[in-house]
Amino acid sequence: MDFSPNTDAQTKFPDQPQSVWARFYVPEIHDVHPAMDDRLDALAAFFPVKARAAIAYLAVPHWAGDAPIDAAFASRVKAFGGVIVLHGLNHRRGPSALHRLVHGHDDRREFAGLDAGEAAMRIERGLIHLGETFGERPRWFCAPGWRQEPELADILRRAGFDGFQLMDRLVLRDGGEIALPAVNFDVGERAFWHALARPPRAAQIRRLLERGAPFRLTLHPGDLDHPATWRQARDLMKRLDIEGWRAVSLDEAVTLWRTLNSVGQAGSKSPSSL
Ligand SMILES: [Zn+2]
Repeated sequence: MDFSPNTDAQTKFPDQPQSVWARFYVPEIHDVHPAMDDRLDALAAFFPVKARAAIAYLAVPHWAGDAPIDAAFASRVKAFGGVIVLHGLNHRRGPSALHRLVHGHDDRREFAGLDAGEAAMRIERGLIHLGETFGERPRWFCAPGWRQEPELADILRRAGFDGFQLMDRLVLRDGGEIALPAVNFDVGERAFWHALARPPRAAQIRRLLERGAPFRLTLHPGDLDHPATWRQARDLMKRLDIEGWRAVSLDEAVTLWRTLNSVGQAGSKSPSSL
C-alpha cells in the first residue's frame, strides 16, 4: 500500500531484540529504471559510503511509457555494487482517472488482482530482461506497491527466487517469514497525502529506534520532490549513522535471522507473530 499513510500497526517485534537481530537496516532504492537516471546518484548518496554495497536496487525492466532498461543503464547501476531485485515488469496496473486524480499518477500496483497466468508471464519476461541486461538473474522479487496475490508465492518459488518482499516482512523460498517492515516515504505525488503520512511515519520510526528493531529503509525517486518528506528521511538516516546502526543486505538479513533462530535467542519465526 504505497498510496496510503504508512503504518506498521500490524507488525509485532520481539519485546527485547537481541544483539544479533537489532540495530540494523536494509537500504533500498525502488523504481530503478532509465528515466530516473538523474536521481540515482542522489538516492545512492543518501546512504553512507559504508552502506553502499548493501543497497537493494529494485529494478523495473520496462517502466510503462519510458525506455526499457538497457545494458548501458544496467552497468551504471551495477557499478554501485549492491543487489538487484526484480520489481515487476512495467509497474502499472492500468490507467485510472480516479487514481490519477487522488494520487497524481496511474495505479502502479501491477500485480494487484492479476491472474496467475499473466503474473507468471510477467515474472518470466522480467527475469529474462534483467538477466540479459545485468548479466545475472535476480534472486529477490518485490511486487510494486508490495501488492501481490497469494498464488504468486508459488510462481516465484518455481521461477527460482530466494525470496520476496512484502511491506512488513520478507518471505523466503522455504516459506519462512522474517519481520522486517519497510519505512516508506512514497505516498504518491500529492502534498496532501505527504502531510498526512508524516506524523504516523514519525511514530513508526520512533518505535523502531526505541526498540532497536531492524527494518528496511526504502527510498523512491519521487521522495526528492517533497522537501519535508525528504527531510524526514534524511533526519532518520542521520540518526541511524550517529547511533551506529549497521546497513546490511537482504541476504545478510536472512543470515542474521537464521543465526538468531539457530541459537534460540528471542524472536519468533511464526508467521502469526508477524
Ligand atoms: Zn515501486
